[in-house]
Amino acid sequence: MSELTSVKLVLLGDSGVGKTSIVTHYVSGNAANNVKPTIGAAFVTKEINVDGNQLELLIWDTAGQEVYRGLAPMYYRSALIAIIVFDVTRSQSYESVSYWIKELKTNVDTNIIILVCGNKTDLEDQRTVDTSSAQAMADQEGALYAETSATTGSGIERMFQMAVSKLLTTRKTNTDNNQQKGVNIKDSQSTKQGGGCC
Ligand code: GDP
Repeated sequence: MSELTSVKLVLLGDSGVGKTSIVTHYVSGNAANNVKPTIGAAFVTKEINVDGNQLELLIWDTAGQEVYRGLAPMYYRSALIAIIVFDVTRSQSYESVSYWIKELKTNVDTNIIILVCGNKTDLEDQRTVDTSSAQAMADQEGALYAETSATTGSGIERMFQMAVSKLLTTRKTNTDNNQQKGVNIKDSQSTKQGGGCC
């Protein structure tokens, strides 16, 4: 059985929904107040322990601006997990989730784990997308659903755990099924790269 040691994860979603803030909070444990818009994509790593498995997450935070959308395939193509973020106070950003799901389903391996994330739950009084509709949409798409606040940190750790846990479960099932075929999950990932943007 191949050993999974690092996992490439990509964050997608409209500009301003909080992707960089989520990553910053997850990696540094702080609320990000002065995050700058991502240009192209930024890359960070984080160790994670899920169900006793120690893994390194390679997190690609992509820019949401329309102008950079064409670059996204470069980042999501070899990813094992895609987190599509929307802002629970901005319905338009929720509508973009379908765009990204379609894009992923058309262009990547069917085994990619997709997690839809409703961010900015601290702004409950301004919410325009309710949890049950978003959850139902994710269920229908075969995706996971989580809600977070990058301001308070609520739900962030749990969301990453959820996605990796699902990956490990799916991978175990696939490994059991594919043992004779010699499928190695590492082969589907890109080589580790450092650094920022393009
Ligand atoms: P990105 O373009 O998707 O990477 O979004 P950013 O991380 O740059 O965040 C856009 C803006 O939303 C920034 O002003 C953040 O401070 C703010 N923001 C991000 N997450 C949250 C959140 O959970 N709650 C609130 N209230 N603001 C947030």
